[in-house]
Amino acid sequence: MRNKIVVGNWKMNLGRSECHKLVDDILDSLSDNKTKIVFAPPFIYLDYVSGLCLNRENMTVAAQNCSSYDNGAYTGEISAKMLNSIEVRYVILGHSERRQYFNDTDEVLKEKVERAIDNNLTVIFCCGEEISQRESNQHFDVIKQQLDSTIFKLDINDFKNIIIAYEPIWAIGTGKTASSDQAQEMHSFIRSLVNKRYDKITGTNTSILYGGSCKPVNAKDLFSKPDIDGGLIGGASLTSDDFVSIINSF
Ligand code: PEP
Repeated sequence: MRNKIVVGNWKMNLGRSECHKLVDDILDSLSDNKTKIVFAPPFIYLDYVSGLCLNRENMTVAAQNCSSYDNGAYTGEISAKMLNSIEVRYVILGHSERRQYFNDTDEVLKEKVERAIDNNLTVIFCCGEEISQRESNQHFDVIKQQLDSTIFKLDINDFKNIIIAYEPIWAIGTGKTASSDQAQEMHSFIRSLVNKRYDKITGTNTSILYGGSCKPVNAKDLFSKPDIDGGLIGGASLTSDDFVSIINSF
């Protein structure tokens, strides 16, 4: 069966002591909870935050990106192999900010996904449409194309290491959330694509997260939908009260 997962994407925020305080505050106020919790701090704090999660079976860290190359003269890049070497088990790929500002095209993402899978990482793969695409009723085609050209190139065995995050671009950091019905409609569509590309068991076992202005006030409604298995949380993951409240919405 698929897992309930809440991922906190800290983006390029927080210093080391703030990371420590945030994790401590979350640990202090989190009641006994079986939800899988994944913190995605900036690269340089991965090892440190990972240490703070030790002995917490349901908590771990994710990188926010990895290189499309294995190794070599690529100044500033971090490879999937390096992440594996410090026991990072998850990586977020395809986030709309990476697509928009850092030229992460579908072709590049296909390479990054392969490097990640080759190095035993679970990929949290983001997809999402722009508002103009939704308004012109192209949103289902856009999502299908994003998946077809990247993670659906994997064979069924490798696909077991994929978590999908549906993140409508118009909802990220804007305060506009997709309604739970809009999100459910897209999640159900994505699951049907997985069923068709692989098989029904794979579709049933794939976790599909929602991201885009998910907050304590709307998390319960979103998470109550049958095809929404958790959230990829940006802004609200930087405040312990909000993040814990989202986790407790299950
Ligand atoms: C995100 O960046 O993945 C995200 C969902 O951000 P926010 O929750 O701030 O909309």
